[in-house]
Amino acid sequence: MSAAVGRFSILSILLLLASCSSALAQRSQLKAPWNMYSPETDITEGKKFANQVEKQAQLCHDPKVDAYLTQLGSRLVARLNTNGVQYPWEFHCVNDRSINAFALPGGYVFINRGAIEAADNESQLAGVMAHELSHVALRHGTAQASKASFAQGAAGIFGSIFGGTTGGALLTQGITLGAGSALLHYSRSAETQADVMGTQVLFDSGYDPRGMAQFFEKLQEEAKGKNPPEFFSDHPNPDHRLERVDEEIQKLGGIPPNARKDSAEFEAAKREVMTLPAPAKPAPRAATPPREPGQGAPPPAPSEKSVTYRQSGLTLQYPDNWKQYASDENGATFGPPGGVMDDGSGHGALAYGLTVGRAKGSVDASSLGDATQRLISDLQQANPNMKVTRQSQNVKLNEQPALSTYLSNDSPGGGLETDWLVTVARPEGMVYFVCTAPQVEFETYRKACGAALDGVRFR
Ligand SMILES: [Zn+2]
Repeated sequence: MSAAVGRFSILSILLLLASCSSALAQRSQLKAPWNMYSPETDITEGKKFANQVEKQAQLCHDPKVDAYLTQLGSRLVARLNTNGVQYPWEFHCVNDRSINAFALPGGYVFINRGAIEAADNESQLAGVMAHELSHVALRHGTAQASKASFAQGAAGIFGSIFGGTTGGALLTQGITLGAGSALLHYSRSAETQADVMGTQVLFDSGYDPRGMAQFFEKLQEEAKGKNPPEFFSDHPNPDHRLERVDEEIQKLGGIPPNARKDSAEFEAAKREVMTLPAPAKPAPRAATPPREPGQGAPPPAPSEKSVTYRQSGLTLQYPDNWKQYASDENGATFGPPGGVMDDGSGHGALAYGLTVGRAKGSVDASSLGDATQRLISDLQQANPNMKVTRQSQNVKLNEQPALSTYLSNDSPGGGLETDWLVTVARPEGMVYFVCTAPQVEFETYRKACGAALDGVRFR
């Protein structure tokens, strides 16, 4: 008897395993990209950014809509593979008519009323949410930040990656997030992963898995002949997006016959957001850019007297009325009092001054061009409006082969800034200098930075 039971159990376990593996083997397995941060960092840094968003965005402040989004979000989260991490999930409705939604690392999800109004049914809204939740589960935001930090060779202090401005010195340690930060600009491969995982989550929670792709198609329709929706600037369209989603649906076994498309709750929430008051016009940006307390006027002109900065490997001279805003073994940031401004998201970003940094990996004259291009594309990833205005030209710095490149970018104080980038080939890693100032005042700063660069000595 016991032997028979034993055989029966083993047989049923084998059958069970066989049926599981045939059902599971087919769906795509997703591996989160390399990440130098811990999931706890996703939560703590995401929370800081979420607090800023809550202060700056106009939320719907409609408990019924928030409760509905939380209920829908929780249903999807229940089917989301977070690799064992418990995120503090929050769902907020934003009173903004543009069709957009975003999720911060750690699970702080913001959904514009425009996205709810544009969705035809619950499976489409669930689709865009499942896509966002997948970015959180795969930790794409901090993975992107990891790549950027690694390329820069400076994980902590340089705002160039996280601050949203080129020379932005961070006044705090750790990741700093600014609006338009690297954390929300996903790569195309991250997009494909979020599409595939989002489709699986929709399927597993009983929704029509076509909802997400239908919503993206709708967004694309909207975009025809107009500016593309904000959603696509953060979530670039990967190649064959719709085909890849269809392929995953096939791998999952096709569209379930009883897949949920819509609900009375969705229709009620959609009616509710349509009755919300129109979003208030954003306050016009102050004519005078925000400055450090007590700094009402532009910073004082750079002094002609200089002080010496010594770092392992190099010395340079900078004006004696500038201060050192940040420094570590990879570099430092210098600027006049008032040179660091609030970049609009509560973070300090360098508006006037000079940044020196070092990238990893030995660089010689022949690889300098490529290394410079890599640095520029990393900067552009974090600063979508940054443009090269003058191509790299060969120069010499303290007898070392160097390249001089000019770029433009949004200044943290409003208007445009000029960024003069000088990269130097060094066996211990490429050294770069970024001289930053608003375009209209750049000439003064070009002279001061030029004098500082003339005094650079490598040891
Ligand atoms: Zn995305």
